[in-house]
Amino acid sequence: MRVVVTGGAGFVGSHLCEILLRRGDDVVCVDNLSTGRAENIAALSDQRGFTFLRADVSDGFDVPGPVDAVAHLASPASPADYHKFPLQTLAVGSRGTEHALVLARRHEARFVLASTSEVYGDPQVHPQPEEYWGHVNPVGPRSVYDEAKRYAEAVTTAYARHSGVNTGIVRIFNTYGPRLRPHDGRVVSSFIRQALGGEALTIYGDGLQTRSFCFVDDLVRGIVAMLDCREPGPVNLGNPDERTVVELAELVLRITGSRSPVQSLPLPTDDPVRRCPVIVKALERLAWKPEIDLEEGLRATVSWFRSYGVEPAAAAGQAR
Ligand code: NAD
Ligand code: UDP
Repeated sequence: MRVVVTGGAGFVGSHLCEILLRRGDDVVCVDNLSTGRAENIAALSDQRGFTFLRADVSDGFDVPGPVDAVAHLASPASPADYHKFPLQTLAVGSRGTEHALVLARRHEARFVLASTSEVYGDPQVHPQPEEYWGHVNPVGPRSVYDEAKRYAEAVTTAYARHSGVNTGIVRIFNTYGPRLRPHDGRVVSSFIRQALGGEALTIYGDGLQTRSFCFVDDLVRGIVAMLDCREPGPVNLGNPDERTVVELAELVLRITGSRSPVQSLPLPTDDPVRRCPVIVKALERLAWKPEIDLEEGLRATVSWFRSYGVEPAAAAGQAR
């Protein structure tokens, strides 16, 4: 296949490009490098079958040559990033998704949307099955992301229903692994950077809110399975191993051997209290389930952060 990966220079996108190339697909990575990094795809640039196209997908873009599939991942994903780029986040979820859908329609290509567990908002149903419609504050600080992704799901469904595009939607739950930006503000990257740098681990609120963390290698296997079939979804992709933020902090401290203290900071507005995916559909429709447990995944991530040379001064130099 020749696969277009929007957001391919980001954390998840770069792993997706890599796995697709490894199995023999050609990959066109389309990215504006707003929250992604050229170094994420530096090792791919020399590989046969890999093309990088620097473009903002919200402005419209074209890909010369054949296209068999479009994986639409372009979007800021960390709360810190989408608070920094609120209008760009809305634009890429709306106009960016439409441009990616038009590309897929023109080529009669498979289209897969990277949606998110954030469409469930601060969920009132726990754990979250795909049938749950969510509990989102449309005017809260997270709405630029949540509503953009909800619109992205709606427009994707409309292109399937009314234009016959072969679409699939995956709802991705918190994912971590190598190539997280040390200063992206997400909890796993923050805790590892802080633990390795001897800084206090910043726990927001009482730390009893939960998330379910999926290792990136598991996630991209799921995205590839979605690309390879005609399942419309939405399908949750996540690891149902639910942990509190305090538990995560303790695990990071143990794995790194750090003696960093923990520091309490205010809970951000509308921070979801609990989040855990029901993954029965992924198992039934994609034969997918996560295989890497949190400790193993965190060890791999910590070792990548160490090799990346994370300590406070160096990490700050890499922040975007
Ligand atoms: P990321 O910020 O590392 O990657 C996003 C990529 O999209 C970056 O390379 C960025 O430069 C690019 N991008 C952003 N706006 C663009 C635009 N207008 N035009 C072209 N490129 C643009 O984030 P990530 O964690 O890799 O997330 C990838 C996708 O997966 C996103 O759509 C995100 O919403 C979704 N997702 C991720 C998670 C997670 O935990 N990582 C969870 C749920 C959903
Ligand atoms: N969090 C935290 N300390 C940090 C960063 C995040 O306690 O330094 C908390 C945050 O409040 C949330 C959870 O960790 O409850 C996951 O946050 P993240 O930004 O990684 O993802 P999201 O909120 O989008 O799930």
